[in-house]
Amino acid sequence: MHMQYLLPLLLVELGSPLSMVATTKSAGRSRARPIKGPWPAAYPAKEHCSNCGLCDTSFVSQVVDACAFLRDGMSRAEAMEERVHGRSRRYDDQHLDEAHFGVFENMVLARSVPSVEGAQWTGVTTTMAAQFLAAGRVDAVVVAGATDADPLKPMPRICRTVEEVRGGRGVKPSLCPSLSVLDQIADDPTIKRLLYCGVGCSVQALRAVEGSLGLEELYVLGTHCVDNSPSVEATRLFLDAAGVSVADDEYAGRSQRVASVVLTTRTVLRISWSATWVRRSKAMAS
Ligand SMILES: Cc1cc2nc3c(=O)[nH]c(=O)nc-3n(C[C@H](O)[C@H](O)[C@H](O)COP(=O)(O)OP(=O)(O)OC[C@H]3O[C@@H](n4cnc5c(N)ncnc54)[C@H](O)[C@@H]3O)c2cc1C
Ligand code: SF4
Repeated sequence: MHMQYLLPLLLVELGSPLSMVATTKSAGRSRARPIKGPWPAAYPAKEHCSNCGLCDTSFVSQVVDACAFLRDGMSRAEAMEERVHGRSRRYDDQHLDEAHFGVFENMVLARSVPSVEGAQWTGVTTTMAAQFLAAGRVDAVVVAGATDADPLKPMPRICRTVEEVRGGRGVKPSLCPSLSVLDQIADDPTIKRLLYCGVGCSVQALRAVEGSLGLEELYVLGTHCVDNSPSVEATRLFLDAAGVSVADDEYAGRSQRVASVVLTTRTVLRISWSATWVRRSKAMAS
């Protein structure tokens, strides 16, 4: 069995609040104009853009240093470790896991008991996020919910209640502009402590701009992202090509689980399907 499917594997940064840099919400922050052109052609990272949402906000002004796909890209994550975690990852013989997974205190394989109905696996992510909010540790939680019209289409949500957090359960298997809510967060004086649920490329960009958000504490519940499709339309094309039927009214998490199984058992085809996604999404974009 491939390592990536021994999941849920969560990159939990809950022990690293931003409280070292206490800031206030600044009303007078400068506002660059968000990108309005077509995706991905108008976005700085072009065809490498993961639609993380940063460029849909005024924080596009920091894109050159924040984007996981520009200049030194994701290799900049290591340079952030000391600031975010208080130390860099260890590279000696005793700590080879950190070379692979990054800085951690404990690594556990966990499941939620009872499991969350409709979650991706057992709902560890949703449960932890909901408990953080219920315990009053944060003012809001960012999740990838779905649009009202389409349960497969990811839509970032700023959640204030446990019910809203639970509404984000299940992976919607296409790129989600999770950071597109950054201006709302920076402008909202009631959000001082935030828990962010999202995938790695968006977390890197978030960590790059966190000092400008006026937050007192920022926590991250990061899920890794292996296979994704550029759009919900491409997801449906992929499922069609794989011969998997997922009705619109079924929960999005199921489609990702089905797709994962198909991908695991047909690795060779996965490569050609991935290429198909790219070709088809380009065709759709043009
Ligand atoms: C796009 C994507 C592809 C993935 N591919 C794989 C894979 O191939 N193999 C594998 O083992 N694991 C994959 N994962 C990670 C895996 O899905 C998580 O480990 C799992 O969601 C955790 O299970 P859970 O029951 O705790 O999730 P839940 O409690 O159901 O929580 C799911 C979380 O994912 C977030 N989410 C939903 N859709 C998106 C999205 N499009 N972008 C960002 N965040 C989102 C929600 O906000 C929620 O916080 C992928 C995750 C994503 C987002
Ligand atoms: S910061 Fe995000 S939205 Fe902007 S180009 Fe990079 S991946 Fe795309």
